[in-house]
Amino acid sequence: MIIVLKPGTPPHVTQELLDRIAESGLKPLHLPGAERVVLGALGDERVLADLQLDGHPMVESVKPILAPYKLVSREAQPEDSVVRIGNAAIGGGAFAVIAGPCAVESYEQTLASARAAKDAGASAIRAGAFKPRTSPYDFRGHGAEALQILRSVGDELGLPVVTEVMDASDLDLVVEKADALQVGARNMQNFTLLRAIGQTRKPVLLKRGMSAKIDELLLAAEYLLAGGNREVVLVERGIRTFETAMRNTLDLNAVPYIKQRTHLPVVVDPSHGTGIRDLVTPMALAAAACGADGLLIEVHENPAVALSDGAQSLYPDQFAQLMAQLRPVVSAVGRQLAC
Ligand code: PEP
Ligand code: MN
Repeated sequence: MIIVLKPGTPPHVTQELLDRIAESGLKPLHLPGAERVVLGALGDERVLADLQLDGHPMVESVKPILAPYKLVSREAQPEDSVVRIGNAAIGGGAFAVIAGPCAVESYEQTLASARAAKDAGASAIRAGAFKPRTSPYDFRGHGAEALQILRSVGDELGLPVVTEVMDASDLDLVVEKADALQVGARNMQNFTLLRAIGQTRKPVLLKRGMSAKIDELLLAAEYLLAGGNREVVLVERGIRTFETAMRNTLDLNAVPYIKQRTHLPVVVDPSHGTGIRDLVTPMALAAAACGADGLLIEVHENPAVALSDGAQSLYPDQFAQLMAQLRPVVSAVGRQLAC
């Protein structure tokens, strides 16, 4: 339920209303907006009806949140959320490109790939320390050692770093080293992990599961917000369809659809979405054109020898071209590209 307060409601009245909601066993939410304060009450709506808040002199309106995802919905918060990863802003008109190699392979490889990303205009570096791989015999990342490498590279270049956390037992370690956490497609519905991350205040990139419906993605994000972590960015990274020509089918329909329903920023990952290097730039431009708030791009100093996802990783000069082509598209849709 959403409770809209009249403009000029004094803070002590807001607090009284929040206390009444909490005393009745509902979860109170304080959602101060630019123009007026909105309160939320989550739980049994019959209990809220008994509180009769619509009769309060400072309450303008009381209306139900119809979406199953409450905190994530635009009904709860009409204005865009802006998520900050270090100095990089995502959402609310700010467009950010997060780039880097699929995995941290070595200090030299990570630094060279990250430097190429930075020089071309990326505003954050992403590289995996813990890699979810289909085969247990494939390279699964250098773990804790890679986290330290990534941190050092981020510090050296002065850019924030993003990396995947695969297991709740690694969370403290990853929180200590990273500026933002990635939840991978295979873990989108790992509710233990989502609940643990919800307790932190680290920004999160939550990737859509390869067979996940949009509502399931939004409900996965609801776990994070319900835990208290509102710094959530949704990532469309392609889904499984009958089409096998590409690694995945990049669902760009999802971008405007999701943005109509949530205030959270949406970023597109055309690297995993296509799996094919030559498709990354056109789909990145399309993503910007259809309203994405940013991109996640794999770029490697030498994709030919990459230990994972070489076939979809851009060469540094290709990434620089992508950035050059992106700028006019981003400004044509009224957004600002950082850097
Ligand atoms: C990745 O980001 O390198 C990755 C494994 O992505 P996804 O979880 O989308 O498959
Ligand atoms: Mn990858």
